[in-house]
Amino acid sequence: MEPVDRREFMKSMTGGAALAAASLPARAASTSESSSSGLVLLTTWEWGQNANERASQVFQSGGSLLDAVEKGINVVEDDPKIMTVGYGGLPNADGVVELDAAIMDGTRHRAGSVCNLHMIKNPISVARQVIEKTSHTTLAGEGAFLFALKLGFQPQQLLTPASLQKWMDWKADPHRQTFWLKSPANHDTIGMVATDGKGHMAAGCSTSGLAFKIPGRVADSSLVGCGVYADDNVGGASATGDGDLMTNYCTSVSIVSVMARGASPQEACEEILRHMVRTDAKNREGQCAVIAMNDRGEMGNASMNAGFRLRYSVWQNGTSELHEGPVLY
Ligand code: ASP
Repeated sequence: MEPVDRREFMKSMTGGAALAAASLPARAASTSESSSSGLVLLTTWEWGQNANERASQVFQSGGSLLDAVEKGINVVEDDPKIMTVGYGGLPNADGVVELDAAIMDGTRHRAGSVCNLHMIKNPISVARQVIEKTSHTTLAGEGAFLFALKLGFQPQQLLTPASLQKWMDWKADPHRQTFWLKSPANHDTIGMVATDGKGHMAAGCSTSGLAFKIPGRVADSSLVGCGVYADDNVGGASATGDGDLMTNYCTSVSIVSVMARGASPQEACEEILRHMVRTDAKNREGQCAVIAMNDRGEMGNASMNAGFRLRYSVWQNGTSELHEGPVLY
């Protein structure tokens, strides 16, 4: 590995991210030679276990780290029982499923993302193709859909009988909450951060966003640096929760920038959530959870409060575990 120039990395950070990092002591530059013994996968929620299982199979049979992240996330996108991601995800206020996803290769420092994608059940794979087949980073809406068709993705109805029923129930409720007023909370994201144990990082995330959102609303999940970020020189991060809140803090790149200053992944996760509360005390009530891993395979995670407490899945040394993360407030 090249020696890490963390100061160069910090120079490239946004002002907000640098601000979040300012309270931490800088760590002297060091090599990022991995001390872990191989692949490590850190994934949000319990369904991350299935995603990790598939990702590890892909990697161990010769796929790249990015292949592993993409194919692992596909498992959750394909599962109709998971109503917050991919096929079977809850639709927008008009009853249309709109998907958001992003994937980032920490080695090439390249991300691809799609937002408001309709009728394609694997947005993470379309996002991957944005990296591989274009010079763009983000494709949205109709353009993303036509791009996917051009590459051979098959269009399909993404509503299932169960998700359609939930939307009809919501629509029929005269007292239903909408995003013009206060959020009806029903959302999650599959986010995965991965290292190959040799200092390479990749990360991805995919969501159907907030249930019954205003059509056209974009999740933090498809905004590079917000829902996901990866850099071989430091590590990677991903976020789940209220993207309308977290986007304002560029959560994932902020966490990576705090790690670049020498914080552990755990310290960095906690620092960004505390920064959110320092700047606005009501963020204490926010639904926010984050995961992070550095280029040595050390992990961290945190949830803002017990109302949205993260469970996360770890795959390491051939074993898969599910944990519940710490709550800050
Ligand atoms: N962050 C996603 C969004 O805002 C949802 C979630 O992860 O819970 O749409």
